[in-house]
Amino acid sequence: MNVILLGPPGSGKGTQAKRFEQSCGIRHLATGDMLRAVASSSSEFGRRVKEIMDSGQLVPDAIIIDMIAARIAEPDCRDGFILDGFPRTVPQAQALDDMLAQRRLGIDHVILIEVNDAALIDRLSGRFSCAKCGASYHERYNRPRVEGVCDICGSREFVHRPDDRPEAVRARFEVYRRQTEPILPYYRARSLLRVIDGMAGIDNVTTEIAAILGVDAPHA
Ligand code: ADP
Ligand code: ADP
Ligand code: ZN
Repeated sequence: MNVILLGPPGSGKGTQAKRFEQSCGIRHLATGDMLRAVASSSSEFGRRVKEIMDSGQLVPDAIIIDMIAARIAEPDCRDGFILDGFPRTVPQAQALDDMLAQRRLGIDHVILIEVNDAALIDRLSGRFSCAKCGASYHERYNRPRVEGVCDICGSREFVHRPDDRPEAVRARFEVYRRQTEPILPYYRARSLLRVIDGMAGIDNVTTEIAAILGVDAPHA
């Protein structure tokens, strides 16, 4: 099963994708996490990627398209994947279709998680992530089960993302509206797009997604 989760920064894509990866055995492919790994290298290329990400802009389509094409060709994606953060532009959506068609694959579900701006700002300002596996937490809405220990991988190191500061958040909302929202008609026209209420609590959003995918809702 191949799934795309769409939604503005902070809508809960990563939080939900991680739950389904653990329960359904489909790979969570988060382009933000992949790019953060590149950005942490001390190469010139890594520095350039970090600069773009910290400013809230998008890295060039060609770079991210190549990364995803290589990633979905790996054996662990054989049983499917859940894309989080890709596609983010119309050319990326088209390139995704092409690369899947070449492998005789397709997209089964596209789910848009809708959340209003005030809630997004509240979520991003309280977000912190596991430094090792990228799992997202929130100071008030989603703390690790054991204080200071990542639920998913057991790491004790957490980070605040540099692009979650207010200036970068504003830029990311603007980029989402201008560059990412135009892909919605692309999937709507093919009757693939389902819209869910992302303002609900984390467990309720999980239940809604599970119903669309036709699987049991994973537990937290
Ligand atoms: P995205 O991957 O779409 O940017 P995240 O999954 O990282 O979003 O979630 C953004 C922040 O909001 C995180 O701090 C997360 O713990 C929190 N969060 C996610 N879903 C919800 C929800 N339904 N209600 C409240 N907070 C949430
Ligand atoms: P969020 O979870 O808050 O939506 P991500 O972690 O997905 O943010 O992305 C962080 C940053 O990584 C983006 O602001 C952008 O700079 C870069 N990025 C991630 N995915 C893509 C993509 N598909 N195309 C271009 N840039 C991307
Ligand atoms: Zn972790």
